[in-house]
Amino acid sequence: AAKRARNGRQHWYAAHLDDEAGERLELIEDLRVALETGQLSLAYQPIVSLPDGRVVAVEALIRWQHPVRGAVSPAAFIPIAEQTGIILEVGAWVLRTACVQAVTWRDTLGAEAPGRVSVNVSARQLAEPGFADLVASVLAWTGLDAHHLVLEVTETAVFGGGQAVRTVQELHELGIKIALDDFGTGHSSLGLLQTVPVDILKVDKSFVETITMAGRHAVIASALIQVSQGLGLSAVAEGVETAEQAAELYRLGYRMAQGFHFGRPAAEPDFTRRMPLAVAGRPQAGRRPDY
Ligand code: C2E
Ligand code: MG
Ligand code: MG
Ligand code: MG
Repeated sequence: AAKRARNGRQHWYAAHLDDEAGERLELIEDLRVALETGQLSLAYQPIVSLPDGRVVAVEALIRWQHPVRGAVSPAAFIPIAEQTGIILEVGAWVLRTACVQAVTWRDTLGAEAPGRVSVNVSARQLAEPGFADLVASVLAWTGLDAHHLVLEVTETAVFGGGQAVRTVQELHELGIKIALDDFGTGHSSLGLLQTVPVDILKVDKSFVETITMAGRHAVIASALIQVSQGLGLSAVAEGVETAEQAAELYRLGYRMAQGFHFGRPAAEPDFTRRMPLAVAGRPQAGRRPDY
């Protein structure tokens, strides 16, 4: 803040912009190296059935252990990777790695393997006309059935129509399920749900955070589960951190949830070691939902 003082102001902005541009360039350079030298990894977070606590799916989340900066959050590097296009290579790596892991779980855990693996896909990937073919070839190469894969896209990515929507249609025709991530925070248009083949709504954690507070705070979470039910879609509540939130979500009609309360994202082999815990306990009444 001292640097912003009076005469230094103009200079500060220029220097600041340079810093930012330089920082971004460096991050992209480092990301290329990261891809080649194995600094990237995936963490897995369970998505659970509220009626019986079982793991119905697993979301793959990218992690970057930078040799100097330490852990770099995807929220920091994914947007930059998108703008420069390196997300195409990063995304392909994520997809291959997650599909290989899904096949490994099926081989080693059998019936206890998570039913589906959910992979985040960026707008830039959907805009590529060859993306569905790439996904098909990864499935063929790994031997994973299409119905064991879910691809998470954002409302904003498919809002404009065009190639992104065509890509989603192609993916859906392959038998892959489509989840709308962070639902309610983007270009929320309910009309989107009629033009894009969506199977799952992932209700954003901002609507879960306030749910156990007094007042009108559960209104949106409640409205969104009703929309999903009315349209015959599955719904997952994101960012569930407490038992109270889980209970309230269940009361509102939610049957699937994800969040620190059920399990933090964990790398292999920790994730698999914790899996039996996540699925422990005798199934209770209520049909297990389909993610
Ligand atoms: P997202 O897809 O909505 O993923 C959920 C994020 O919420 C993850 O953050 C997860 O760690 C975090 N989370 C899960 N449960 C809780 C909870 O109970 N409370 C709170 N406060 N947070 C929770 P993460 O791993 O830092 O990822 C951030 C975002 O980066 C993701 O949001 C996604 O948009 C993007 N991302 C992550 N991995 C990939 C990837 O492989 N490809 C692409 N394109 N984007 C990715
Ligand atoms: Mg996601
Ligand atoms: Mg999400
Ligand atoms: Mg989110």
